[in-house]
Amino acid sequence: MTTRREFLLRTTAAGVVAASLRIVHAAKANAREIGSKVAHAGVVETVLGPIDASRLGFTLPHEHIADASYDLTKWPKVWGGRAEFVAKAVEKLKLVRVAGVSTIVDLSTYDVWRDIRFLEEVSRKSGLNMIACTGQRFFPPISHVSMAARTVEGLTEFFKKEIEQGIDGTGVKAGVIKIGIGGKNVTALEEIGLRAAARASKATGVPIRTHTDAPNRAGESHAVILEDEGINPSSVSFDHSDDSGDMDYFLGLVRRGYSLGMDHVHRGLTLDFKPSFERRSECIKLLIDAGFADKIFLSQDSELGGSLLPEETRDWRERIDPPDGMLFITRRMIPYLTQLGVSHRDIHAITVDNPKRFFGRS
Ligand SMILES: [Zn+2]
Repeated sequence: MTTRREFLLRTTAAGVVAASLRIVHAAKANAREIGSKVAHAGVVETVLGPIDASRLGFTLPHEHIADASYDLTKWPKVWGGRAEFVAKAVEKLKLVRVAGVSTIVDLSTYDVWRDIRFLEEVSRKSGLNMIACTGQRFFPPISHVSMAARTVEGLTEFFKKEIEQGIDGTGVKAGVIKIGIGGKNVTALEEIGLRAAARASKATGVPIRTHTDAPNRAGESHAVILEDEGINPSSVSFDHSDDSGDMDYFLGLVRRGYSLGMDHVHRGLTLDFKPSFERRSECIKLLIDAGFADKIFLSQDSELGGSLLPEETRDWRERIDPPDGMLFITRRMIPYLTQLGVSHRDIHAITVDNPKRFFGRS
């Protein structure tokens, strides 16, 4: 097991590579086309309006920002109010932008205290494109007793409303559908959500990302339901896939056309989580070598709110948050993959080309 210190030392030398990537990606400006919605192929809704997917640039496809303001409840006046909280968030996000990231996809659904105005504000002030999601996570403690009364048709309409009309009475539209499925087998309630996601995706062209129990090969059971709804696998990414480390599982899914979100790689740096950081990284390399660079996403599933908490209150986040927070991918992960022999061309395909193709409405 590599200690975090050893890992940090090892990857520092590769920082030069990250610097050169930054230059490439910094050139991709965050120009926005805010105006009337044009429902044609290749357009993606950001929180500041529709843009052509070619403008997404370097994209982190699985992060959490919109739930950050929930942490305001742990942010007593002594640390400052909302304005200071927003300022600190923007300060952090600007560093992410400077590192070469152009777009962050926020996968915080309505049931995790999402504050869509917060997302809109920090997007505008940081200069980062942000894509909001519709969808649902079904596992406790969020699920309310009323969820049992949900129907596929009802949830489909709800997801479509957030995609076509806007979120929480705003004009901010969702550009992706997130479904959180807790375990190996899809529960009856989760199945309703998955089917609704498939129907809303087919109706709108907006893609789906799922929280997936990869160690138990859960992507395979999700696929059965999605395919029963006639979904095109190219519109689906099974996120947290690197929690598996099983190449047989990965190859089975990518050969069928699904994408894999490799967004927990940092967790392998601690003894609490298997597989190891090295194995997770190796699997990414093996998938690229097998010809599936076009089916991989890199992200870090970080929660901005936790990183904004004052030092005294943030112990609980330290265990799962990546070192460097939202800078883990650009500062540590990509240099390490480069050390393993992954080419700049493949990194570009994974971080720029794949999001452009995936999020551009079909
Ligand atoms: Zn997540």
